[in-house]
Amino acid sequence: MATERAQPISRLIQELTKLPGVGEKTASRLAMYILRSSREDAEGLARAILEVKEKIRLCSLCFNLTEQDPCPICQDTRRNAEVICVVSGPEDLLALEKTGGFHGLYHILHGVLSPLDGVGPKDLRVSELLSRLQKGKIREVIVATNPSVEGEATAQYLSQLIKPLGVLVTRIARGVPMGGDLQYIDEVTLTKSLENRSPI
Ligand SMILES: [Zn+2]
Repeated sequence: MATERAQPISRLIQELTKLPGVGEKTASRLAMYILRSSREDAEGLARAILEVKEKIRLCSLCFNLTEQDPCPICQDTRRNAEVICVVSGPEDLLALEKTGGFHGLYHILHGVLSPLDGVGPKDLRVSELLSRLQKGKIREVIVATNPSVEGEATAQYLSQLIKPLGVLVTRIARGVPMGGDLQYIDEVTLTKSLENRSPI
């Protein structure tokens, strides 16, 4: 007779397999690890998961993940409010912040245009970007989407929408390799690609 896993363990494994990149094997390894860990550690993990859902929201200006709204970057009056860097995700913002070379504000699209995956402009924070620009303070928009086919298409699309508003639209330089991923690019290359940006 085959012995089945106790139901709570199966449930934990089932929940873990919903995480990206976690298959059945990894999930059961993680479940066993959690099972063997102290009650304190297990509670810490459970609490951290709940806390991130309860406390983290999107900044109503730039759509970065934040505990306070507006986020600390949008609230920072030392930053240059005339330049907005558009990125596809919060990880890209973190990568750019790590370079310490950019002092403007950000706008997070939460994705890139990808018709094949059914992602259109309405699925991204495009209209919110345009309304920020219509307030008139912004002089330049740097499009720092990944140098992928989708990233380039998104940059072109944004450029067409933004140019008529009289705002300069620039694209980060090609020091970033085609098909590359912003968050994995070294800080020097990323700083250079910001410095050498060009109008699109
Ligand atoms: Zn913000």
